[in-house]
Amino acid sequence: MKTTTTTMQTGLKIVIIGAGYAGLATVIHLRKRLPNAHITVIDQHAAHTIITRLHHTAQHPLADIQLPLQELATRFDFTFVQHAVSFEAPQLLAWQHSKCLQLDDKTIEFDYLVVATGAPLGAHAKASNGYDLAGLSQHCLATLLKKLIAQSTNTALVLNIIGAGPTGIQFAFAIEQVLTRCHIAYQLNLFDGQAQLLDAFPATMVRYVEQRLAEKKITVFPRHYFKGEQGTDLVFDDKASNSITVQRSDLSLFFLGKKDVSPLQANSSGQVLSGGQVLTRVFTAGDCSHYVDLGANAMTSQNALRKGKAVARNILREAGLVHFCLPYMHQEVGYILSLGTDDAVGWIGNKNIIVQGLPAMMAKEMIEAQYDLLLKGIDCSLF
Ligand SMILES: Cc1cc2nc3c(=O)[nH]c(=O)nc-3n(C[C@H](O)[C@H](O)[C@H](O)COP(=O)(O)OP(=O)(O)OC[C@H]3O[C@@H](n4cnc5c(N)ncnc54)[C@H](O)[C@@H]3O)c2cc1C
Repeated sequence: MKTTTTTMQTGLKIVIIGAGYAGLATVIHLRKRLPNAHITVIDQHAAHTIITRLHHTAQHPLADIQLPLQELATRFDFTFVQHAVSFEAPQLLAWQHSKCLQLDDKTIEFDYLVVATGAPLGAHAKASNGYDLAGLSQHCLATLLKKLIAQSTNTALVLNIIGAGPTGIQFAFAIEQVLTRCHIAYQLNLFDGQAQLLDAFPATMVRYVEQRLAEKKITVFPRHYFKGEQGTDLVFDDKASNSITVQRSDLSLFFLGKKDVSPLQANSSGQVLSGGQVLTRVFTAGDCSHYVDLGANAMTSQNALRKGKAVARNILREAGLVHFCLPYMHQEVGYILSLGTDDAVGWIGNKNIIVQGLPAMMAKEMIEAQYDLLLKGIDCSLF
């Protein structure tokens, strides 16, 4: 048994597509248990973006939230290949049998494959003053704001955020802080198609956010469906008054969510289900996956990290290196929204336990610190 284990540990080849939260969590947990395995990570980008901190770029350089994947490859001893892998679901069955990926003229063999490509982002910004998530991952918001402030005249700047989900709200507070500190005259607007802000969150939390938005003079326009751009202006279908409104815009930020693409179905070990068959060598984790049994599937970094860890454990089990491993059963333990650098609100434990102000900020900082430690190889998650 010992000889078999040693041979397997030396020879195991694992390929992970996607170096986001789920992909990196899989690598880090696997590397701890398999010091000799050959792990290859493929990503279309050269850096891992800590996307949950994207709103920090209203004040800080983009480089602060981007980690070169080559640096992580050295830290966790994996081979990094920068490549966009294009595939449709039937390809997964073919990979299960062939146990190899073909990238241009390169063949990469594997014993286990992990698909952790996240959820595709919708592209919305077309005008020269409009940015969506892809744009904000390339252009630092702090630089855009600096330019806008430098060019401002006596007329108040008009900044519009389209999409008032958690991301839009975090950005609104981060931008408000910058503009207020610069003593600039501005109008900051948040547009959303829904009648009620953050309707999936507890009412106490929503009330707190609404109060803070009012205090900061961030104007919310509910029931406003974005129809398109007219030059640099924005056109909305105002469902409240059943009219079309045109909004002047000096800067437009689009946070209209992810593309509606069906996730890969998987069992509670993270193995892909395809046409009623379990693909024993092909795993999936993170936003691109839906586990059919017990655990939480919401598209959060917390679930992506837990699924990544579950996949790593289940690869060890499938390879015969551990005999038992619990299925993925993770339930969300909280969600905290940052409302600028000095305030936050959220729930911890269950949705009746609301934290706000300093305790919420401290909890948010602890979550961030936990992730920084994980990227250094230290897992201090409690669950
Ligand atoms: C702005 C923003 C703020 C957020 N804030 C929070 C928050 O505060 N709390 C929270 O819990 N969640 C938050 N989320 C959600 C959270 O970030 C996601 O749930 C998490 O990133 C999912 O991790 P993942 O690994 O599945 O996917 P991702 O992190 O999206 O990683 C996918 C990786 O796969 C790569 N990739 C994709 N397609 C291919 C391909 N074809 N070939 C090669 N590589 C590919 C991508 O480049 C990327 O590196 C936020 C999301 C956004 C966009």
